[in-house]
Amino acid sequence: MQTLTTEQLLNLDRQHIWHPYTSIPARHPLYPVESASGVKLTLADGRELIDGMASWWSAIHGYNEPRLNAAAHRQIDILPHVMFGGLTHSPAVELVERLLAITPEALNRVFLCDSGSVSVEVALKMAIQYWQAQGKTAKSRFLALRGGYHGDTFGAMSVCDPVNGMHHLFSEVLPQNFFAPRPQSRFGGDWVADDINAAETIIAEHAGQIAAVILEPIVQGAGGMWFYHPNYLSEMRKLCDRYQVLLIADEIATGFGRSGRLFACEHAGIVPDILCLGKALTGGYLTLAATLTTENIAETISAGEAGCFMHGPTFMGNPLACSVAAASIDLLLDSDWQANIVRIEQRLTTGLAPCRNLPGVADVRVLGAIGVVEMREAVDVPQLQEKLIEHGVWLRPFGRLVYTMPPYIITDEQLNALTTAVYRSLAG
Ligand SMILES: *Cc1c(COP(=O)(O)O)cnc(C)c1O
Repeated sequence: MQTLTTEQLLNLDRQHIWHPYTSIPARHPLYPVESASGVKLTLADGRELIDGMASWWSAIHGYNEPRLNAAAHRQIDILPHVMFGGLTHSPAVELVERLLAITPEALNRVFLCDSGSVSVEVALKMAIQYWQAQGKTAKSRFLALRGGYHGDTFGAMSVCDPVNGMHHLFSEVLPQNFFAPRPQSRFGGDWVADDINAAETIIAEHAGQIAAVILEPIVQGAGGMWFYHPNYLSEMRKLCDRYQVLLIADEIATGFGRSGRLFACEHAGIVPDILCLGKALTGGYLTLAATLTTENIAETISAGEAGCFMHGPTFMGNPLACSVAAASIDLLLDSDWQANIVRIEQRLTTGLAPCRNLPGVADVRVLGAIGVVEMREAVDVPQLQEKLIEHGVWLRPFGRLVYTMPPYIITDEQLNALTTAVYRSLAG
């Protein structure tokens, strides 16, 4: 392959390639990355950065991980991909076996899909088909939470926060859903019983039209990095049961230990009817997601007019992604992940605490391996990022939020460097 100079690479990129939520030509700087190993990214100019983003929640074991590399190398020589229609293979079955072992017993019917957004589409379609099969065709809308984020495809967008979730741009085509206020009771704070009332009012009034409630359990991610009280989740479970509405838990960001439990629903001891997994599923190596549901929902859908569940992507159950995912789950379970997340939580808590005294800081919060500094005003992202990079750290702040969810293998020393960099970059 022809090797481009860094300048050629950047020029071609700027002219022709979209990046997440950017214009062409891009207005913000781009940093060419050459390789990554452990917790470090190596830029083309040789600088090494501690990655505080874990490639958007996904690279939980860090980069260039020997066991994940081995799983990928082994599988690519045998069967990197084959269609899943009418064929099956051990990587998919072995992955599902592992998923069944770590998720609630009732969720034992699994749909493997290509990305988080697709797994949300699948979950929404499952809920609609479930009610359709029982003749309840009016139950085709959803109740979501303000401040939520569920992906960028149309169905997923329609349940994202209606204000910062692009609704106005696509209002002519987006399905109209219901929204409850963002839960006010904080994780670790007092439970205010009124918190669930607004949701209850909507569900009580519109249960005949609502197929499911969809939410991110405990941690609202891209919509505001907000940690809410587990009682909200258990109250919502009770409401869904009382009013015959399904509960979809989107654990795409929270799954696989990030919040201190393997899955965030465990903080409230609830079991959703449909569960979406993604992001960390393959340890950040490949795109893969999964939507899990119950035997009853799967069988009801299958007994309906359509006679099947109406979805089947080309790369469904991709063997390469499945084998890396199975290896990633083994790696996680073989580690003392729970104690490790406590370690990261403690380090983030002490390391970020001094930020509270900085001008412009509205709030500092930490849960599991997630640390957030919320500012009063939106930050100048390129300027702040440049400072963070000078301090040897990769973060991607957005809006008023400067936040980190590092790979779990990050050392105490690296955590210290990370939180110090955040403090110094915000200090001036
Ligand atoms: C990232 C994310 C998605 C979308 O996943 P993609 O793989 O980016 O499509 C959906 N829900 C939540 C909670 C997420 O964090």
